[in-house]
Amino acid sequence: MLVLGTGTSHGVPMIGCECGTCRSTDPRDKRSRASILIQTHDGPAVLVDTTPDLRMQALAHGVKRVDAIVYTHSHADHVMGLDEVRRFNVMQKSAIPCYGDEQTLEDLKRIYSYIFSPDAPRGAGIPQVVLSRIVGEFCIGAATLMPVPLHHGGRQILGYRVGSLAYLTDCSAIPDTSWPLLNGVRILILDALRERPHPTHMSLQQALDVVERLRPERAFFTHMCHDLPHAATCARLPAGVELAYDGLAFEIDL
Ligand SMILES: [Zn+2]
Ligand SMILES: [Zn+2]
Ligand SMILES: [Zn+2]
Repeated sequence: MLVLGTGTSHGVPMIGCECGTCRSTDPRDKRSRASILIQTHDGPAVLVDTTPDLRMQALAHGVKRVDAIVYTHSHADHVMGLDEVRRFNVMQKSAIPCYGDEQTLEDLKRIYSYIFSPDAPRGAGIPQVVLSRIVGEFCIGAATLMPVPLHHGGRQILGYRVGSLAYLTDCSAIPDTSWPLLNGVRILILDALRERPHPTHMSLQQALDVVERLRPERAFFTHMCHDLPHAATCARLPAGVELAYDGLAFEIDL
């Protein structure tokens, strides 16, 4: 399990910002856009979202294989790197299945009309992907993925439960019907944008309240803006709770 990116939509450092976090030399304060790669020794490598930083994330962490892509939602910071999967198509000599909810797939077809429109001129290298709509639990090789509906402001998006792991980025609240899907989660990766409340993301305190209710063994926060410097913020979090950082890796049970 590899955390590829932990930043909010602007990334950290932000263009033109001279704050302490944006100027920090701590590598954990360099946050590319939020994404993870779920991988096991012999199982498939499942990429969650294709961020605008996908190319640099793959280069930085030696990602050489992507067997499937799973989307949380279609905001730009989660989809704008889809074109980069052409390299995986070439190396793997195959198309890559892409899973998402109905809204996300519709948006992908519109944003990437050069891939999906039957009228688009052919010939140039375009990503080879096969879209699949998510309707409940689904399997990718040995991995079973349970979609976890989340409120992201006024929009409903998907988090994912995979074995003992839950990945819940871009959420402002967890709907009542989704809590049972999170029973027994041992590792939780959860949205925590900043201290101040925000209409579409959890604040640090809201994220801590979720941790208190779910009581995972370890909780990692993600999708953070520059308001949360890594070392200083981690120092005041409870035991077992930390900010994730780009390149964080750990084992999970599928
Ligand atoms: Zn986002
Ligand atoms: Zn800054
Ligand atoms: Zn979003």
